[in-house]
Amino acid sequence: MSWIPTLAERVKNLKPSPTLAVDAKAKRLKANGVDIVNLSAGEPDFDTPEHIKDAAIRALREGFTKYTPVAGIPELKAAVAGKLERDYGLKYANGEIMASTGGKQVLYNIAQAILDPGDEVIIPVPYWVSYPAIVELAGGVPRFLQCEADNGFSLDLNALEGMITERTKALILNSPSNPTGAVYSAQDLRSVGELAIKHGFMVITDDIYDEIRFDDQGPDNVASIVPEARDYCLIVNGVSKTYAMTGWRIGYLAGPEAVVKACTKIQSQSTSNPNSIAQKAAAAALSGPQECVSSMRDAFLERRDFIMNRLSGMTGVSCVEPKGAFYVFPDMSSYFGSSYDGTSIDGSLALADYLLEKAQIACVPGIAFGDDRFVRFSYATDMNTLKKGMDRLEKALNELR
Ligand code: PMP
Ligand code: GLU
Repeated sequence: MSWIPTLAERVKNLKPSPTLAVDAKAKRLKANGVDIVNLSAGEPDFDTPEHIKDAAIRALREGFTKYTPVAGIPELKAAVAGKLERDYGLKYANGEIMASTGGKQVLYNIAQAILDPGDEVIIPVPYWVSYPAIVELAGGVPRFLQCEADNGFSLDLNALEGMITERTKALILNSPSNPTGAVYSAQDLRSVGELAIKHGFMVITDDIYDEIRFDDQGPDNVASIVPEARDYCLIVNGVSKTYAMTGWRIGYLAGPEAVVKACTKIQSQSTSNPNSIAQKAAAAALSGPQECVSSMRDAFLERRDFIMNRLSGMTGVSCVEPKGAFYVFPDMSSYFGSSYDGTSIDGSLALADYLLEKAQIACVPGIAFGDDRFVRFSYATDMNTLKKGMDRLEKALNELR
């Protein structure tokens, strides 16, 4: 009998990222020749723009291949500061910015830096899959604030205030949201900023989809709407979504120096600096020409309109129109209770399994985002694939009726 190593409690209770798991399964099936329509990935289908790749190639050729400062190279921090000033009118000094290995790593470092065991973090539901896990890995306790499709997934501010306790350390906001595509109103952001000041908690504002917004307003967050709340805000962002750079792994944090320093200390003892070449590429992305951003956004908007139009023609499906990001999150709970081949569809997991098995559509069950009524489809894929996916979805749902 072989020896089985004992693992830590923290990892025994940890579930792997469900979005990455579904995507990996879809890619595996595809590689095995199954004709999968993969609507699971939260990843732009576009290639990284050429001028960004050129910056990386230049860096490589010039031998920019050594350790850099842990918190990132000055050039990248300056590019981040430039972006925050350009898009939000916010000024951040060099010591208030840290670059990291993706937005996910920034969130991880923040949780490690600010949470003691038992500290609470308020997370609006539906949430991005990794928030609760990242909080729990730091010994924190997620407290869930339910948001409803009927209100466009806006924040229930009374419920939010009612949840605040002595242990409330932070609130995580993600606007535009993964998975709903909801964008919080300026009025709600103002109220959140006022609550943060009144009760003394931090606002972790995950702005990773900030440039994929379909209104004319452009990016905003609690810090830009409520200047007095600036030092309560930890701005998390990255280049993955805006510049189609998911694989390059560059994210960044802007916030009060004390938190940035603490996050940098954690980084120095865990991952060290983010990849040197990717930092050069990210600097070029943030400070170079921005036309690529608007053309990708236009493409996402066209796809959103297409997919909303198709969903609206399907019986038993209701979907709030996303205002940003590249996901739709329809309520499909009317199909719960139906069955196929003797298997009952008792929730979003079973529905997603049915769609994968019977219609070869990969999507992410709502339960992964904390709400079992829904299913998430990514429209960060080309129109032909989307059309094929919607045709299959309509047929598969009709077969359940
Ligand atoms: N926040 C949200 C809401 C996301 O969807 C993602 C995508 N993975 C991230 C953060 C992190 O992205 P990355 O680590 O690629 O910067
Ligand atoms: N954020 C993307 C998603 O939600 C990528 C996968 C992940 O990092 O979880 O699909």
